[in-house]
Amino acid sequence: TEAHIKATEALRPFNAYITETPEVALAMAKASDERRAKGGAGPMEGIPIAVKDLFCTKDVQTTAASHILGGFKPPYESTVTSNLWRDGAVMLGKVNLDEFAMGSANITSHHGDVVSPWSPGEPGNWSRRIVPGGSSGGSAATVAARAALGATGTDTGGSIRQPAGFTGIVGVKPTYGRCSRWGIVAFASSLDQAGPMARTVKDTAIMLRSMCGFDPKDSTSVDMPVPDFAAALTGDIRGLRVGIPKEYRVDGMPAEIEALWQKGVEWLKAAGAVPVDISLPHTKYALPAYYIVAPAEASSNLARYDGVRFGLRVEGGNLKELYENTRGAGFGKEVRRRILIGTYVLSAGYYDAYYLQAQKVRTRIKWDFDQAFQLCDVILTPTAPSTAFGIGEKMDDPIQMYLNDVFTVPVNLAGLPGMSVPAGVGADGLPLGLQLIGRPFDEETMLKVGAVLE
Ligand code: GLN
Repeated sequence: TEAHIKATEALRPFNAYITETPEVALAMAKASDERRAKGGAGPMEGIPIAVKDLFCTKDVQTTAASHILGGFKPPYESTVTSNLWRDGAVMLGKVNLDEFAMGSANITSHHGDVVSPWSPGEPGNWSRRIVPGGSSGGSAATVAARAALGATGTDTGGSIRQPAGFTGIVGVKPTYGRCSRWGIVAFASSLDQAGPMARTVKDTAIMLRSMCGFDPKDSTSVDMPVPDFAAALTGDIRGLRVGIPKEYRVDGMPAEIEALWQKGVEWLKAAGAVPVDISLPHTKYALPAYYIVAPAEASSNLARYDGVRFGLRVEGGNLKELYENTRGAGFGKEVRRRILIGTYVLSAGYYDAYYLQAQKVRTRIKWDFDQAFQLCDVILTPTAPSTAFGIGEKMDDPIQMYLNDVFTVPVNLAGLPGMSVPAGVGADGLPLGLQLIGRPFDEETMLKVGAVLE
């Protein structure tokens, strides 16, 4: 823990943390030592991890990287983090993210951009500042920089897998319902899932087992036994059918991504798996459907930040002015954009044309996967359509940024487990990830294949 606290200090130019908690970490490590001395070590005993600042942590500031939650210290702990502490993990602090997890580059945080440890040049004096991906950019940066052994992430449309892919680490989004959402600041409740980010598939498997489990406090939490995910990593994938969806060959995808994908197929084939061509015909509608459903749910979830109950309050002459002043000052540009889109698509007269239509598309996308999983056991795709870009690039056009999520959002719309595994580097020397998608609640097969790929 001491070594990781030092590494965290050295990481400061990268702006990965919003709140460092070295005293908390040392106290937890001490308690962990005592448990170990008594022979009562848990599966995460003494492991220092970073927590995305979207998870409520009791008495420790939780901001969601928004000005509107500045100074908010929750009087409760999220279920996922309390599960990790129960199993012995140690909290290094709260890491940066896109504001309310809305973004793909960690550039919408009120607490500033996160810089990827892959950026060329000296820390603070980079020749190019590379994004770590988002929204779990702080989690990815701190794990990639070896300043934490793991980090929690959340994934609404790719926020665990894409930053993992951009920084050369492993990120796992479990099946919707595996991890409790209780105590996690809500973005889009029907899509949000927590998951682990770490350096190896095995580390994510161990961490995932601690994080998930039934929680009566989340009505969408699923009461199913939690498997020993690490035990599933047998290395034996002979005969497993790996689906290759033809619709993921999107226009304008760089040749190196296509080549990496092909290499992934070859690696799995060499290990005895059987590639099969599959079709997910509604793929092209996933992105537009996501960017209706997610903002719609966000606009509703974010209604609670009114200056009365949490964090920031900007006074006004009356209650309405207090709401307006607080929300006007507290939310950043991207969050305001989402609230406006969400409010629009839920309005009378537009609801049927947009929101209802998007929900129907969502069902089709789920059916596509159901059909595909008749023919295969796991699906292989690239994680993102490019390597990480520089801070300042793709930034004036939100649509360009949204296109980054083309391979990740269908998984959230269908509620499936997905993961990103580091699989090489691009011509620019930056990491590339491959994505695996599993059947609902079959993280084991997905992780097993992932461990063969890494
Ligand atoms: N990039 C996507 C968005 O901006 C997904 C973010 C996420 O998964 N939290 O909505």
